[in-house]
Amino acid sequence: MTDRKSFDILVLEGDGIGPEVAAEALKVLDAAGEGAGLEFHYHHALVGGAAIDEEGAPISQETMRKAEAADAIILGAVGGPKWDDLPTLERPEQGLLGLRMRLDLFANLRPATVFEPLADASTLKREVVSGIDLLVVRELVSDLYFGEPRGVKSSDEGRVAFNTMRYSDREISRVARVAFDAALRRRRKVTSVDKANVLEVSGLWREVVCEVAREYPDVELDHQYVDNCSMQLIRDPSQFDVILTGNMFGDILSDEAAMLTGSIGMLPSASLGADFALYEPVHGSAPDIAGQDRANPLATILSIAMLLEITCKDAESAGRVRSAVERVLNDGYRTADIIGEGEDPVPCSRMGDLVVEAVRRG
Ligand code: NAD
Repeated sequence: MTDRKSFDILVLEGDGIGPEVAAEALKVLDAAGEGAGLEFHYHHALVGGAAIDEEGAPISQETMRKAEAADAIILGAVGGPKWDDLPTLERPEQGLLGLRMRLDLFANLRPATVFEPLADASTLKREVVSGIDLLVVRELVSDLYFGEPRGVKSSDEGRVAFNTMRYSDREISRVARVAFDAALRRRRKVTSVDKANVLEVSGLWREVVCEVAREYPDVELDHQYVDNCSMQLIRDPSQFDVILTGNMFGDILSDEAAMLTGSIGMLPSASLGADFALYEPVHGSAPDIAGQDRANPLATILSIAMLLEITCKDAESAGRVRSAVERVLNDGYRTADIIGEGEDPVPCSRMGDLVVEAVRRG
């Protein structure tokens, strides 16, 4: 644990169910902080559609500055039908993308953990997903999504569209170190995923990952081609500890890994840069259930556990939050998205209170 006891947190609730799930997560963070002698000072600002309506842009410069001044950012979710007709560059999602770029949040960590009481919620068989605990580390600010040149132009063959897949030594090594460091805190295995049989970019990716691996003699490294990895995730996900991959492959594989757990309402994430960290649930703003106290707050609460572990370097408090979630699920409490037949759902706010009580009981 770090010597620091006091942290400035910027809370960006966003749109739809964002404010509902963020409120529950803050309750849990306070309860975990009390037990560990940690203090959290919250600063609030707008992002996404809420920021468009109030401030005329999906994120203001003032909010960017607040983000740079904070020790960590908690984000609910952005977007909704109200803003769907806006041009791409003016939409709520640009608030989140702008933040990732400005803070250079280059590593996206998405754990996929199957909580035992929810093993039947997965579309895969219980014996395949039971006990799954893997982490996808996806590079987030480079690759095909950002490479130049890109565009569409006319040619003798008609229109031609093109994007550029591109990675540098530095971009690969810094995200690889995040994956190896994470593996040291877990089961000490990294699977690097690429397409090195076809792509030069993947050739460099593999070379650099192997170089970084030499700094981590206690971590086992293996490589898989992306097509094989997508198959292995469904066939035998228990073989994975940390999956390290680039932006585009990670985009696809992390959603696939997420589905092992059964509900998008259970999936936390952290986006990390050299100096900044943003924690958010994987799900969106769920406009269909917004304002009804029906959302599952556990993804955001589990993101709080990541904040405690990564920003506060307090693995014990993080473990306490995760155990509290598990205990509440073991006791049979479920929000509507994870409910079984014949069970009654608890509202979002009640789920938050139950986790707080379980954290306090320790
Ligand atoms: P979504 O994740 O918001 O919802 C998909 C389905 O999952 C819906 O049926 C919803 O009710 C359900 N769901 C999601 N989170 C839930 C939770 N915590 N508890 C219970 N049920 C939950 O995805 P979508 O419908 O494709 O997108 C809705 C809006 O969210 C869009 O504007 C989209 O752009 C935005 N979005 C934002 C983010 C983000 O902020 N990081 C991510 C994805 C989508």
